[in-house]
Amino acid sequence: MGKLDAFKTALDAVRVMQDMATAAHNVELNKTVADAYGAVASAYAEAIELREENLSLKRELESAKDRRALREHIKRDRDVYYFDTLTAGYHVGPFCAQCFDDNEKLITLRFSHEKERGSLQWYCGVCNKTSDSSNARTTK
Ligand SMILES: [Zn+2]
Repeated sequence: MGKLDAFKTALDAVRVMQDMATAAHNVELNKTVADAYGAVASAYAEAIELREENLSLKRELESAKDRRALREHIKRDRDVYYFDTLTAGYHVGPFCAQCFDDNEKLITLRFSHEKERGSLQWYCGVCNKTSDSSNARTTK
């Protein structure tokens, strides 16, 4: 039984009372029962809204916890990020520093060859930034 089922039970009971008040031709009782119905219905609607808000906040909290856990293990080395430990769901790196700093997105960098200098660089396919790879640490 869901937590909001009590409202449905109360609404059903008020409907029965409404029928009884109508059958008794009691105008005052009819009005009182109608007011009760309105109060229970709006409390029910508010409870549904609060439940949805609660779910949304729970998801936000989980996402913030995930980001915090991520930030604990990701380390910057000049223009790239690496994980300092094996992290479930991710490879070690390198990841684009700009994309992570701006949008908290882990974008895997690729090697590209710069013809002018004849050197290898990291290249981000999302923000198109290139980073010098000569100082990038090697994976342990
Ligand atoms: Zn990038």
